[in-house]
Amino acid sequence: MTNAAPLQYRVTRSRNPKPAAEREAILAVPGFGKYFTDHMVAIEWDREQAWHDAEVRPYGPLQLDPATSVLHYGQEIFEGIKGYRHADGSVWTFRPEANGARMQRSAHRLALPELPVAEFTESLRQLMAVDDDWVPSANETSMYFRPFMISSEAFLGVRSAHKASYYVIASPSGPYFANGVAPVSIWLSTEYSRAGRGGTGAAKCGGNYAASLLPQQEAYAQGCSQVLFLDDVEQTYLEELGGMNICLVYRDGSLVTPALSGSILEGITRESILQLARDRGIKVVERRIAFEELREGVSSGEISEVFACGTAAVVTPIAEIKGPGFSVGRPDAPAGELTMSLRKELTDIQYGHLPDPHGWMARLSPA
Ligand SMILES: *Cc1c(COP(=O)(O)O)cnc(C)c1O
Repeated sequence: MTNAAPLQYRVTRSRNPKPAAEREAILAVPGFGKYFTDHMVAIEWDREQAWHDAEVRPYGPLQLDPATSVLHYGQEIFEGIKGYRHADGSVWTFRPEANGARMQRSAHRLALPELPVAEFTESLRQLMAVDDDWVPSANETSMYFRPFMISSEAFLGVRSAHKASYYVIASPSGPYFANGVAPVSIWLSTEYSRAGRGGTGAAKCGGNYAASLLPQQEAYAQGCSQVLFLDDVEQTYLEELGGMNICLVYRDGSLVTPALSGSILEGITRESILQLARDRGIKVVERRIAFEELREGVSSGEISEVFACGTAAVVTPIAEIKGPGFSVGRPDAPAGELTMSLRKELTDIQYGHLPDPHGWMARLSPA
């Protein structure tokens, strides 16, 4: 069953929202993913009624039967998208149709129901209609929305659930790099893959992250903040980091990134950065990149910049790549020039400091 008419929301205001002074204290130093707004969105789905019972309600714990299938079989998907406070006080988001469409593709792969893209965007607007005050306004701060969907049927049989729940929570977030954009070191995982051929790598699902946490721990132990994964078939070609895509800048000025392989997550930041580069007349190439090409290119200077990109940190310069028995680059290498100028152009569009030639921005509040 599909829904023909737009969902009608029931709105229940929190009876004990955070007092303004406490909220302002949080917004002054929000960090990332630590604090949540006063409300959340919930929408239920079942096979008979399709999407129904849309509501904005006070933020709070979910009550789940211990047999709820998501707890056993991991049928879960999520999104990450930000809200940006503009100078006139309005709140905007970036390419919500792209996130909504990706969530539908993730839902399809995980055998979950697809939420209409217009309802995805509407769910963010509904939350902003009550929690607008929670969007910080200082430079490089934002509201990080975490829409997610779980299978919510209490049943241990192994099949796709007949009930699902969609939620949106929102977390004010500070600048990702507290002391300005800082180049990071990354660790090449030679033992583990995050995703495999025919698997769920192109879906944004919790399971991919579960598979990346052990290698991530290894990376931390090696003084690195992110893991670089290779393709699982030949263990040769660059795929991506645990939660960000990777791009290389060559000495001739071209921007090169791994082609989407089916096991790489199709980042919206990646696609937007490629577009901004093309707009500048930069040659953009999506192809397979062997790890050896990266290693030799960074040592010889043929590759002049390496960066990671994703919604949370936007663009992160990579200073050094380490793996068992080798390292290239230097941990104190400065951020690349093209890296930083593409980062600035993208954030300037998002914060309304530059025109939006591709129609990427959508206003959330006032609706
Ligand atoms: C979310 C995510 C990205 C980045 O996608 P954006 O749309 O740019 O935020 C990259 N890789 C993985 C594994 C992800 O989950």
